[in-house]
Amino acid sequence: MSAGATTGADPGEPAAPAEPVINTANERLEDGVNRCPACGATEIQLRVSTSMLICLFCRHEWAEATIEPLVSGEGTLRDLTGTTVASGASDIAADAGMLTMKCSGCGAEVVVNTSEATSSRCHWCRHVLTVNEQMPNGAVPDAVLPFSLTRDQAVENIKEFAGRRRRFAHRRFLREFTPENVIGAYLPYMVVDCNVSGDVQGVGEVETRRFGSRDDSETVYNADVYRVDRHVDFTVDDLTLESSTERANMRAFVNTNNVINTILPFDTKNAVQWNASYLVGYSSERRDADVSALMPSLEHQLLSITRSEVYSSVSQYDRGVRWEAEKVEVHGTKWVSMYLPVWLYSYYHEEGGSAMVHYIAVNGRTGETMGSVPVSHWRLALAALATGSVVEAIVFALLVA
Ligand SMILES: [Zn+2]
Ligand SMILES: [Zn+2]
Repeated sequence: MSAGATTGADPGEPAAPAEPVINTANERLEDGVNRCPACGATEIQLRVSTSMLICLFCRHEWAEATIEPLVSGEGTLRDLTGTTVASGASDIAADAGMLTMKCSGCGAEVVVNTSEATSSRCHWCRHVLTVNEQMPNGAVPDAVLPFSLTRDQAVENIKEFAGRRRRFAHRRFLREFTPENVIGAYLPYMVVDCNVSGDVQGVGEVETRRFGSRDDSETVYNADVYRVDRHVDFTVDDLTLESSTERANMRAFVNTNNVINTILPFDTKNAVQWNASYLVGYSSERRDADVSALMPSLEHQLLSITRSEVYSSVSQYDRGVRWEAEKVEVHGTKWVSMYLPVWLYSYYHEEGGSAMVHYIAVNGRTGETMGSVPVSHWRLALAALATGSVVEAIVFALLVA
């Protein structure tokens, strides 16, 4: 894949900004047989405890180079202009999923559906074939952040999370609870650097006098009202944006989107250059959103960063500031696509005709754990009656629902 966006743009479309492309393809790897550098065997997988690749034949361990030096370039984030897209984050072409690879073990031509998997076994000689070419279908990102939290640690975290909610959890959930069924999945994210200016305008109030009314039934405030304008220039390093629209659209039905966002952040600086062997034994989800489709959610996040950036500068308005207008101007962005590691335990729960999938997610790097557990409303009600603490129970229900 190279800079497709700079040539042959559809004349009907507005001209796309020039997109300097950072090539992140792992040139050292050829498609097909991905060999151990020490002994040449092809049985390679991730060793989670070290986050390194390990050859299952000779036990040699190694890692791909970190992606950061490759994509960081010369200038600082302040100098960032235009839209820079790394090669693995370029626009997705439809139906570009099938890849024919020549097995260098026996010469057979093996077809891999890259929408489903990025490695496959030659059915003739049993060599493992891996996809390292950056396909324009989102299956191969610029970088991958390997798991460093083992499955056993993830199971422990999930047990502990559910255990703390045991009291109100649905009986059937407790009965069927099998945290060992946790699945390791690489989820697609865009990691974005931004150079931004933000502007907010609103009205701030400063209290000048406060007194009781004659019968002391109410307090009266006098305040000066000011128009408040704030401008802030800032840069953001490694903002993570979810890049699977399928999951974003499911939001109304299941809350996976929110669940995953609560186990952020990831140490994206440690992500390494793509090598399909990192994915052996894990499931992965293809990116299906392009840079342009993610712009609105980026701007949304930049607006909230703008508000928090100016927050400390308006403390003199002791009766608060009401923002009435806000905008961000994005001077420059740099986009890198990345697979981030998540342990997922899912539980399908049906009650009263409505179904919901509950998830407990564990950050595959930090162990941060969050999720939802089906609640027995009746255990909740009983508990509330017993303690008289209805509010507490309701708050709890909201937390776990
Ligand atoms: Zn080896
Ligand atoms: Zn073969």
